[in-house]
Amino acid sequence: AEKAALFYEKQAATGRLAQVLAHEIRNPLTNINLSVEKLKYPDIADREKYFEIIFRNSQRINQIISQLLFFSGGTEVLQRPLIVQELINGVITNATDRLTLKTIRLQTNLPHTPIRIMADRSKLTMALLNIINNAIEAMDKETKILVISVKKDRDGCEIRITDNGHGMTEEQQRRLFEPYFTTKKEGIGLGLPTALSILNSHQAKVDVISLKDTGTTFSIFFKTLDAVPA
Ligand code: ADP
Ligand code: MG
Repeated sequence: AEKAALFYEKQAATGRLAQVLAHEIRNPLTNINLSVEKLKYPDIADREKYFEIIFRNSQRINQIISQLLFFSGGTEVLQRPLIVQELINGVITNATDRLTLKTIRLQTNLPHTPIRIMADRSKLTMALLNIINNAIEAMDKETKILVISVKKDRDGCEIRITDNGHGMTEEQQRRLFEPYFTTKKEGIGLGLPTALSILNSHQAKVDVISLKDTGTTFSIFFKTLDAVPA
């Protein structure tokens, strides 16, 4: 974990953010490509929907570039009180197109009472999206289900992300936070080291449970702020 954090600082310091940028841009670009593919057929239904996806995803790429320009300017973490449910809803909005295009069913389980943590919203969003994007990429079965749940306990809360994808071998589980470790043809292997580095800077703990051919669960534990009336 510490190795990954160190690595990340070095990456930022040496300005090799191009790789991170490439990784983050690939998702919206894939949405655009898939939509263009669909629009090739002149009589396809929902043309509006695909144009809308193209529009939204090109905006998303713009947003990512701004974020990374900011990132390369310094890795200072700006922590503010943040409601976990709002964070999760933002993350889900961002992933909606990828879920739709891969016909993944999303189940959420969020408590009604707002849970507050100290966090850097944009960085934590990036960390959660890196985990969720892997979950999306891992699912190839007929029925694809992503479960995102939040649970509060005495002095903390847990965010749990479960997919019923192809899972990991034990060797893969040991190595998944290693920089440049990837099992994908087009993978870069920086998504999880980046996520871990961000989560470490939030004093969050991460747990992974995975079963080959069955699925994977990422659990993230945060210290919460004392309840403030919302
Ligand atoms: P990349 O996505 O570019 O391969 P990551 O750092 O995001 O890099 O992930 C590293 C590797 O961890 C992936 O290539 C994959 O083998 C494994 N992995 C991560 N999340 C999952 C998941 N939910 N299901 C199966 N494998 C996963
Ligand atoms: Mg990834």
